[in-house]
Amino acid sequence: MSVRAPQVVSVAPGSPAALAGVVAGDEIARVDGQVPRDVIEWQMLTDEADVDLDVVRGGIDLELTVPKRAGEPLGVEVQSAVFDRVRTCDNHCEFCFIYQLPKGMRRSLYLKDDDYRLSFLYGNFTTLTRFTEADLERVVTERLSPLHVSIHATDHDVRNRMLKNARGGMSLRWLRALLDHGIEVRGQVVVCPGVNDGDVLDRTLAGVLDRFPELASVAVVPLGLSRFNTEPAMRLHTPDEAHRVVDVVESWQDTFLAVLGRRMVFAADEYYLMTGRPFPPADHYEGFPMHEDGIGMARTFELEFSGAAETPTGTRSGFFAAVDLPPNPAAYTGLRAAHDSHDGCAASAGSSSGGSIAGVALLPRRSAPVGVLTGTFGAKVVGPLVEQLGRDDVRVIAVDNQFFGGNTGVTGLLTGTDLQRVLSEQPASHRYLLPDVCLSDDGRFLDGLTVTDLPRPVEVVATDGITLRRALEPAS
Ligand code: SF4
Repeated sequence: MSVRAPQVVSVAPGSPAALAGVVAGDEIARVDGQVPRDVIEWQMLTDEADVDLDVVRGGIDLELTVPKRAGEPLGVEVQSAVFDRVRTCDNHCEFCFIYQLPKGMRRSLYLKDDDYRLSFLYGNFTTLTRFTEADLERVVTERLSPLHVSIHATDHDVRNRMLKNARGGMSLRWLRALLDHGIEVRGQVVVCPGVNDGDVLDRTLAGVLDRFPELASVAVVPLGLSRFNTEPAMRLHTPDEAHRVVDVVESWQDTFLAVLGRRMVFAADEYYLMTGRPFPPADHYEGFPMHEDGIGMARTFELEFSGAAETPTGTRSGFFAAVDLPPNPAAYTGLRAAHDSHDGCAASAGSSSGGSIAGVALLPRRSAPVGVLTGTFGAKVVGPLVEQLGRDDVRVIAVDNQFFGGNTGVTGLLTGTDLQRVLSEQPASHRYLLPDVCLSDDGRFLDGLTVTDLPRPVEVVATDGITLRRALEPAS
């Protein structure tokens, strides 16, 4: 497979790379004589002391030596996480959200990745249908853990059917192999009503206990459905079906707790919102291992907003904590909320110091009435919290997602088009807080618009309860 040399996007001032003469735009053909395939290998190679770089600058080959200590950050941000080709999936899942996108969106959003490296780096889910012996060896040797694996069903035929891939059922042997080698794996079941819910879900969780009890956790999430869906078998849950999912999950939590000493399986927040059932207590979530997948977000937001939690949950850690300047994940994660179907109840806000501001010149004063923008699911969580403040100068504005339609009520799927519609009907002199979860790293909504396209200035703020509380504090 051809490997594109990583391109330098920026160099940290005063870093070893800067002092050695590396500049933005350089292509790094080799590091210590080796061609890195991805940012994982890049990190390992550049972690060494005194790194030799083969650089291509404007078509001219250069050799640079970067004096540094082992473990000292090189100080270089590269353009992409994967330098050879991202491995795409060979499945054709009827519930795939990528098939439910309208035409004309950013090309990267149509990328159907099924790459264990992106699973390790960004928490993307992989089905393992393209996983190989060589991949297993690398994962085990380099301890690429945790990985995130889509299970959907442990029944061979149901999994084949859901992935529309004759290797679907068989590929779960790789999950067994990963667990045998001590790799931490977080599983996911996307529930499609009439396909893998009810008794099938029951059997799937029995299969998890029987064949994969070492799984770190299993997230049970509803399929995401947009108005562009063309698969007749894909539909929304009925209320009874949603209740049954929660019943099955909670019943299996008891079994897992009794047998394994932990609950292991969790239903997405959306199921509790769909059914109107109370969210489980915070301690049931066992540390919120699947927070980024929409499991327990309502509870963490509540803890953060009330002041019971001192730090936000869900801050990315692990591999990127060790990388001096992380690559831009936007190309691979721009649609994660859609692909995984859930960012749960994310709503947000922030402090004047924590967020970035669009339209600074026109920004209303801090004491102005505040509108907290969020998706329709987020509003069900944030609304009651804001109400408890007893303030008539703060309101939650639920933005109906008409761009995607269907059941796309999660905040991460909010588009600029819908925000334009809603904001144009809101008073001009108010403050508007916009959760950063609906923007990619380069500041774009899924429909390609930016905050500068909105009819009101907005404060883009972190998506957690602590920042919302601080953003709502009166001006001192
Ligand atoms: S849902 Fe995932 S595995 Fe299925 S077709 Fe889409 S990208 Fe591939």
